[in-house]
Amino acid sequence: MTKPCIICVAITGSLPTKANNPAVPITVSEQVESTQEAFEAGASIVHCHVRNDDGTPSSDPERFARLKEGLEKHCPGMIIQFSTGGRSGAGRARGGMLPLRPDMASLSVGSNNFPTRVYENPPDLVDWLAAEMKAYEITPEIEAFDLSHILQAIARHRAGELYGRLYVQFVMGVKNAMPADRAVFDFYVETMRTRAPEAEWCAAGIGPAQIVVNEWAVAAGGHTRTGLEDNVRLDRDRLAPSNAALVRRVVEICERHERPVATWKQAREMLGLRPVAA
Ligand SMILES: [Zn+2]
Repeated sequence: MTKPCIICVAITGSLPTKANNPAVPITVSEQVESTQEAFEAGASIVHCHVRNDDGTPSSDPERFARLKEGLEKHCPGMIIQFSTGGRSGAGRARGGMLPLRPDMASLSVGSNNFPTRVYENPPDLVDWLAAEMKAYEITPEIEAFDLSHILQAIARHRAGELYGRLYVQFVMGVKNAMPADRAVFDFYVETMRTRAPEAEWCAAGIGPAQIVVNEWAVAAGGHTRTGLEDNVRLDRDRLAPSNAALVRRVVEICERHERPVATWKQAREMLGLRPVAA
C-alpha cells in the first residue's frame, strides 16, 4: 500500500484576524469546533496557537490547557501540536505551555526574516526549548524555513538533543524567507532521503503557495499542512469557509495521487507517538 498522507491543520496562527476571514477561530470554543470539523474531514494533527480575547497572540499556558482539554474531549486520538513559535522575542515564555505535555510541539532551529520582522531563534533558546520537549517527552516538529534549518535539525537529532523520531516540515512562501520554489523543494526532499532516510517530512505553503505545496508534498510521498493560519482563501475570489474546507481540498489531492489519508492511529504510528493522547 502507498504510504498514507498525514494532514496537519493549522487552525489559527498568530496573525490572521476575523477581518481577514470570519472563519478564523479565535476563542477556545471556536478553536475546538473548527478542529472537530477538520478532524472529521481527515486531519490527524492540529497545530495550535492561542489568542487573547482581543485577538492578539498569547502564550498563556492556561489557555493552552483549556484548548487541550476541549480537543481531547471532542477529537479523541487527534495529535495535538502546540506552537512554540508564535511570539518571536518572547523568549522562554514561548515554551511555558510545554509542561502540559502535548504530543508534539513546533520547534524552529534557526532564525530568518518574516514579512515585517526578524524571526529570532537564538541557539540558547533553541537548546532550552529542545531540552524542555525532551523532559516532557514531546516530539518536535522542526519548522524549516531554510535549508540550513533542515541540516541543523538532522545534526541535533543525531546528537540526541531532540525527543523521539525526527519530523521536519518545510515551510515555503513566507514573504522575505524561502519562496515556494520547485527546485529547492526537490532538493529538500532529496536531503531528507539521503541524510535522514528514517525520518518523515511534511511541507506547508503560505498564502497562494498553500495548494501548490500541498500538491508537491502529496505527489512526492510526504505529508502536508493546511489551514487558515497559512492561508485564508480558497482562490483569488473566495475566502475559505472553514479549516475543514481546506482539509477537504488536500483530501482531494490525495485521492488524485492515490495516497490514502492517514487516520490518527496511522499518523501516531508513523511518527512514533504515544498511541493515545496523554
Ligand atoms: Zn504556527
